[in-house]
Amino acid sequence: MDPKEQATKVKEWIDSHWRGRGRCPRCGEGNWTVKYVVSLPLTAVPADWTRTDHPVFPVAPVVCGKCGYVIFLDAIAIGVQRAAEG
Ligand SMILES: [Zn+2]
Repeated sequence: MDPKEQATKVKEWIDSHWRGRGRCPRCGEGNWTVKYVVSLPLTAVPADWTRTDHPVFPVAPVVCGKCGYVIFLDAIAIGVQRAAEG
């Protein structure tokens, strides 16, 4: 899935799950921006890790357009990215 398609899916998920426009907890505005999904590297490999790639936690950063506050959504939990397999 390309970044633009991911961003569209994140916005669709927010529209269907957040109440209202979802006000920013820092500044009170509701002008959120989504651009891409990123992967945060885990600092330790879980004992049950079976994949061959480096363990990562994929998240969708949602940025407040007024103050820059960032919320991370779990990209797998919201269905934007599938959990990789072996
Ligand atoms: Zn804000």
